[in-house]
Amino acid sequence: MSVNLQTPIDYLKGVGPNRADLLRSELGIKTYQDLINLFPNRYIDRTKYYKINQLLRNNAEVQIIGVITGFREVSQKRGKRLVADFKDDTGVMELVWFRGQKWIRESLKIGQTYVIFGKTNWFSGKYSMPHPEIETQETHDGNLRSAMQSIYPSTEKLSNKGITNRVITKIMQQLFLETKGRFSETLSDSTKGELKLISKSDALFNIHFPKTPELLARAQFRLKFEELFYIQLQLILKNLIHKSKIKGFPFNKVGDHFNTFYNNHLPFKLTNAQKRVLKEIRQDLGSNAQMNRLLQGDVGSGKTIVAFMSILMGIDNGFQCCLMAPTAILSVQHYNGLSELCKPLNISISLLNGSSKTSERREIHENLENGNLQILIGTHALLEDKVKFKNLGLAIIDEQHRFGVAQRSKLWHKNTSPPHVLVMTATPIPRTLAMSVYGDLDISVIDELPAGRKPIKTVHRYDNNRLNVFKFMKDEIALGRQIYIVYPLIQESEKMDYKDLMDGYESISREFPMPKYQISIVHGKMKPDDKDYEMQRFAKGETNIMVATTVIEVGVNVPNASVMIIESAERFGLSQLHQLRGRVGRGAEQSYCILMTSHKLGENSKTRLQTMVRSSDGFEIAEVDLKLRGPGDIMGTQQSGILNLRIADIVKDKDILESARYFAKSILKLDPSLALPEHKAILNTYRQMHKYRNIWNYIS
Ligand code: ADP
Ligand code: MG
Repeated sequence: MSVNLQTPIDYLKGVGPNRADLLRSELGIKTYQDLINLFPNRYIDRTKYYKINQLLRNNAEVQIIGVITGFREVSQKRGKRLVADFKDDTGVMELVWFRGQKWIRESLKIGQTYVIFGKTNWFSGKYSMPHPEIETQETHDGNLRSAMQSIYPSTEKLSNKGITNRVITKIMQQLFLETKGRFSETLSDSTKGELKLISKSDALFNIHFPKTPELLARAQFRLKFEELFYIQLQLILKNLIHKSKIKGFPFNKVGDHFNTFYNNHLPFKLTNAQKRVLKEIRQDLGSNAQMNRLLQGDVGSGKTIVAFMSILMGIDNGFQCCLMAPTAILSVQHYNGLSELCKPLNISISLLNGSSKTSERREIHENLENGNLQILIGTHALLEDKVKFKNLGLAIIDEQHRFGVAQRSKLWHKNTSPPHVLVMTATPIPRTLAMSVYGDLDISVIDELPAGRKPIKTVHRYDNNRLNVFKFMKDEIALGRQIYIVYPLIQESEKMDYKDLMDGYESISREFPMPKYQISIVHGKMKPDDKDYEMQRFAKGETNIMVATTVIEVGVNVPNASVMIIESAERFGLSQLHQLRGRVGRGAEQSYCILMTSHKLGENSKTRLQTMVRSSDGFEIAEVDLKLRGPGDIMGTQQSGILNLRIADIVKDKDILESARYFAKSILKLDPSLALPEHKAILNTYRQMHKYRNIWNYIS
């Protein structure tokens, strides 16, 4: 009979209630299954021994054979530490203990040969090893050693309470003993065959107790593949179920508004990418399924017009549509832009945001419910319960990464059956990340900028070059252009940032005095009305310079602004820098982005600045960003739990991810309900994961 892997960890021989509690609270290990899935962080070679004179100042983990020649206690700020001199035939080093000194002192003997293992420190001319793993040479020689000994994730508390790596290894061995190392297969024979994967049992054995480096590599590959495969399976299934279960409103016809606009009022020729994406959207809207599509397009790629033309499809089919933006400024801008386009078409459109007056709100609510209002533009205000549509057919979210998943789903419930949903983002997400985070959405990409755009010239300048920068600004202003100067504003240090901004504003005001120059300022502490007013002055060309915090990061469109100066540029993330730069380069003139920094720059900051100077391709920048920061910090992925991957890494294991998605897709295409006998293992595993909610670690 096979062992039930859902057995609580307390039942494993050698664990007991105390250790079970610690394993639960420190590592989240509740069951046999959890323990088997505690994969080593890394492997070390315990067949290799160092001599003291071979040590390097690199904090490496090493194993050394030697003799303790004496103990002494050293007083320090809090308590004291126990130090032992440890000697081999090449030199002397120190072993140090801050805790458990009495026990150590009693159990270790002067003159005895020990094998020690641990991290070395180099401090005031000497090597030392704090809290080494230590055993007599005799015991050591009696143990089986391998060139790849597993090192498990641990916590300080665990090691303080005596649950060392050795203890975890012992418990793991016990688990393999009780289960006889036999585990149910979780992938289909054909997948295993095609990819030449080793069996689940072999993979688990070799991940914990690698026999050879080759087997370890194959175990890692197989387990990474499996982990990514089930995430993809889940996401694709969600998408399929969604499409079959949730009816969308069929937008059957392409009607008068769309055609009139397309033939007579389109302000420019659409790019091929825009046309392609419109076709993809049209196909979704015309099918019987509800659309759930992510539209990715770099800053300035022209997503707004695609959104508007999708809205026209909705209106031609008798539905209301809404567009939600993350900031009031952006909602105003969309409203102004789209109102212009609506005028010749005789379509009603309103704006609802935080600064809408009660009377306006009341009117909007009324006209939404009686169906007189066709398009509603706004901010989060759209999500309020009071906002009820007569027949919302299409909801569009701009700059999706600014909103949470919860808000996306709230829009769903604005109608008895959910409207079609289009989410747009100008923060390109690397493909692997998109596949993992938005894998349940269909994805469209605008990968082409409108013709005639001049690439923005980006340079990096140090603060001591400021006078040249001022001169450059004056020349540009003399040519009739406008300039943004952006200061960082990071919440934790808001006061300080605010001071930077105000200092900057003052020095700019001195350098660019009135009445010759007019300066606007916009920051997060201003009232929405005041922000709006200043933004409008700049947009209308009444001011030459806009001093601002990152509130202008998203979406703002002032085509005459041709210079973006970013102060303390090293404090911004790459995608944010790219977003900010996207505020210029929107008109016919040559545009510039100047990244200002001090001379103090870390490696990471240098890479960010160099990337900005080198590339204007949002996708390339996003790839670098992902490499620098890891997936956890990339916008919009914080809530996705993608960090909880056990063994795979979506940056490093990109190829495995691609193939996992490919296999998941092919299997579901052939057998959407996983009913075929050869998919039984997959179905069972999938059900198990749901039952025990493992998969929800990844996906909400
Ligand atoms: P984003 O994708 O960043 O939201 P917008 O939709 O704001 O970009 O478009 C940026 C600018 O490009 C706008 O001024 C818009 O009118 C213009 N634009 C969009 N599509 C085209 C096109 N096909 N040809 C020329 N200009 C375009
Ligand atoms: Mg936009």
